[in-house]
Amino acid sequence: MNTTKIGWIGLGNMGIPMAEQLIKADYAVTVYNRSKEKEAALKEMGASIAETPRDLIVATDVVIVMISDDAAIEQIFKGEDGLFSAEISGKIIINMSTVSPSISKEMATFCKERGSAYLDAPVSGSVKQAETGQLVIMVGGEETAFDQVKPVLEKMGKLAMLVGENGAGNSAKLAINSLLALYAQGLAETVLFANQQGIKTEDLLALINNAAIGNIFTKIKGDAITANNYKAAFALKHIVKDLNLAKAEGIASPLAKTALETFEAASAAYGEEDIIAVIKQVKG
Ligand code: NAP
Repeated sequence: MNTTKIGWIGLGNMGIPMAEQLIKADYAVTVYNRSKEKEAALKEMGASIAETPRDLIVATDVVIVMISDDAAIEQIFKGEDGLFSAEISGKIIINMSTVSPSISKEMATFCKERGSAYLDAPVSGSVKQAETGQLVIMVGGEETAFDQVKPVLEKMGKLAMLVGENGAGNSAKLAINSLLALYAQGLAETVLFANQQGIKTEDLLALINNAAIGNIFTKIKGDAITANNYKAAFALKHIVKDLNLAKAEGIASPLAKTALETFEAASAAYGEEDIIAVIKQVKG
């Protein structure tokens, strides 16, 4: 059994398989999720359950947070029974959610004042990469804290890289997700254009995936389009959040602007479905 005691907050599409990697790697893991019913599967795998974020941080050394957005972070860190309601000196908090650089800087300052460390460590990759420990993890924060938790991060990712001070991990992630949005809209538009020209979706995708422009994204999302399966691996509403965060950080390219308009328009009907459900929006 690894000696570092891990606390895990957030059991959504990503949080469950990521926490599972740590249990499989023989860490003692304590979990907390706002909707308590999602904790059962982890309990069966051997995790302990904490009633509140406060109880969780008291019982552990390293706390990992994987939740939706800035509002959720406010709640988990600063809410009643939140992480900051406990004595946190000596703890390391790793926030792997995709959130704004500014909220990371704010939480990092608060942690430092109380003798603890904060790392922003968002991930690239989706459920499949989470299930196989193949995520790419970009980290902002102090090198000493990063070095301490790198072995933990490497149980979830094939690469964990320190890219700068607090907030830098989030900035890198927003850049990557801007490209993700363009890939998704681009693939959707390409498939629809080919269909209009009488080309079958399966045939087009076989060509793309054997060509230099094919990649893991076109493979996985191509399969989803073919199977008409839009169950969220990465919910479309989350890319709207990310594009808005990138906009707030100053991204102003024509493609990013177009993508934000498209995904915002898609959000009402398809927000809970996968990002590639944008094809239904583009089709009209
Ligand atoms: P998800 O399936 O929507 O799960 C969201 C999690 O956040 C749930 O545990 C949810 O709790 C919790 N949460 C939301 N609001 C909360 C609040 N106010 N207080 C406490 N907990 C709250 O999201 P996900 O797909 O796992 O993504 C998590 C993060 O990773 C997001 O920032 C996302 O952008 C990012 N990300 C996702 C992917 C992907 O492919 N899915 C890839 C890379 C990065 P409940 O269970 O109670 O709702």
